[in-house]
Amino acid sequence: MSPKSRWTTSEAERLYGFNRWGSPYFSVDKEGYVCAHPAADDISVRIDDVIKEAATKGIKAPMVIRFQDLLRHRVERLNKAFADSIRDEDYPGHYRGVFPIKVNQLREVVEEIQDAGENHCYGLEAGSKPELMIAMAMHQHSESLLICNGYKDEDYIRLALNYRKIGKDIIIVAEQLSELEMIISMSKELDVEPLIGLRSKLGTRGEGKWAMSTGDNAKFGLTSMEILEAARMLEKANLTESLCLLHFHIGSQVPNIITLKNAVVEATRYYCQLQKMGFPMGFLDVGGGLGIDYDGSRSNYESSTNYTLEEYARDVVYNVKQICGLMDVPCPNLVTESGRAIVAPHSILITEVTGRISKRDSLLTVRKDEIKHQVVADLHEILNGRNRYGNLEIYHDAQQKKEEADSLFSHGYLDLLGRAQAESLFWQICNRLEKNISKTKGYQPEELIGLSELLSDQYVCNFSVFQSLLDHWALDQLFPITPITRLNERPTVNAILVDITCDSDGKVSKFIDLEDEKQYLPLHPLKKGDSYFLGIFLVGAYQDIMGDNHNLFGRVNEVHVFLDEDEDDGFYIEDTIQGFRMKDVLEGVQYSAGGLCQNLKKQIDKATKADLVKPRDGVRFMELYEEQLQKKTYLDIEQKKKRRAAPRKAKAKPQ
Ligand SMILES: *Cc1c(COP(=O)(O)O)cnc(C)c1O
Repeated sequence: MSPKSRWTTSEAERLYGFNRWGSPYFSVDKEGYVCAHPAADDISVRIDDVIKEAATKGIKAPMVIRFQDLLRHRVERLNKAFADSIRDEDYPGHYRGVFPIKVNQLREVVEEIQDAGENHCYGLEAGSKPELMIAMAMHQHSESLLICNGYKDEDYIRLALNYRKIGKDIIIVAEQLSELEMIISMSKELDVEPLIGLRSKLGTRGEGKWAMSTGDNAKFGLTSMEILEAARMLEKANLTESLCLLHFHIGSQVPNIITLKNAVVEATRYYCQLQKMGFPMGFLDVGGGLGIDYDGSRSNYESSTNYTLEEYARDVVYNVKQICGLMDVPCPNLVTESGRAIVAPHSILITEVTGRISKRDSLLTVRKDEIKHQVVADLHEILNGRNRYGNLEIYHDAQQKKEEADSLFSHGYLDLLGRAQAESLFWQICNRLEKNISKTKGYQPEELIGLSELLSDQYVCNFSVFQSLLDHWALDQLFPITPITRLNERPTVNAILVDITCDSDGKVSKFIDLEDEKQYLPLHPLKKGDSYFLGIFLVGAYQDIMGDNHNLFGRVNEVHVFLDEDEDDGFYIEDTIQGFRMKDVLEGVQYSAGGLCQNLKKQIDKATKADLVKPRDGVRFMELYEEQLQKKTYLDIEQKKKRRAAPRKAKAKPQ
């Protein structure tokens, strides 16, 4: 092997993209540990220290680490970006952002955001009745807004109108004319002056995965004809004074700033028209869509955004001001409903690698004199012979022989040893080809590039993709994934990640890359007895606490981290939330712990009576079962490590 240049932590930062998607919140220190900078400054916390501290509280991976200070920083950064733009553009209006609860409903998250936003009159948005229940109870500051979106029934509207009655700035946004009808008639009933908004169905099409939120087939919003009709209905009901907001939402994670600009321009035209028709208006709500640059490429690729949060704020302020100037209409106060951009970066999912599945591990060395079958001899020749063919041709020849061997085995013409030899030779050929390719520069055919993927190891990780990375599974959303330690060592293993669910979809085999995406992740070889943790970053939006109960693993453990100068490590863990116990997930699918125990006990009693098991062993089994109901659902990796460390008593029987 050729001598390689020395590996440094800055190379690790480049390889995993810390300085792109991670800036300014994540970096690698000189000893190769991943650090978080929750307040985006020099104060840093080693993620590994948090994992260790959590372990002393009985909290193990898989777990979510929430950096509460990072959440605050996001809220402040968004508010500052708008404040700065408003000042720079001499914009004659205010910014009144709201946080859409659906993006992360966890109480601690909503509380922190409310607290951080208090000085900025930062409010809340609800998209359903249960979210409205949260929003009304949590809404603190009297000058901040509460915006009601989503489909509404009478109870939803009754709740909102009652809240208005106690003096709150709650704006009910009508998605449909039928809702507006309900709002009008129920306001009369309850004798309250409502604050009403209209959601417009823009012609500007979104882009990216959620593009269908606008355009003619969108399921939300009013068309231009319906907006005219809504105006007429409000006039007729003597509620002109109530119409105060025009709303649109173009879909989440908009990768291209041009789309957002076009939408803002179109919506401002609607706003101005309504104002000219004699409605007081006052607020323009530009919805969500502000994206996160998950792959750090700063492009209009789905996993990225070609703009920054600051650019977004400037573009909203500038475009609204310009259109209002042209139309000679007073500038509105600006509302945004950014969710993803506020919460995505604050949480990290930590999973521990529990094992490795490798095609290279059990390869046989095949000597020529041991070969009994022609197909094996052919493969041996491809590997060891002096052939002058190109890489691609060698690959195709080997592939053909491997398929032949598989089929001979199925038909009984090749024995197990022969098949194992054929497979071993095939993988050795692939290995060699991959090495050749990595040495050659320039264009390579796709089949050969695919070899690295074919040869990559599988790292088994203690978590469930369906619970903790739902968006990756359902929507192909990419997240940055990196080791948490050992970044001062060169990663020498190309791996994909598989989870512990028994579903072949339970894997991560697409990773962020500067260009396009990568089919494997460079990782470190596992060391016996040492933990190897991976961090999955920017996971705080949407799927964070949604999860699907696939295989009944349920929610993972959580720790909530606060910065604190007085602590040795610079932080402390305030809250821990225990992940689900077996009992919890079973109750979620209608089993009572008592009922299950009874059922098992009956079977054990029967077996005891029949002398299949000693009474004492039967009782022990029952105790084990009961004890397990109180235990966590994920793998207990400590057990495996302890067993390894303990001296072996009896030799294990061969299986
Ligand atoms: C989902 C949603 C949002 C949040 O969008 P992000 O892209 O996460 O900022 C805002 N407004 C409405 C109406 C939504 O449905």
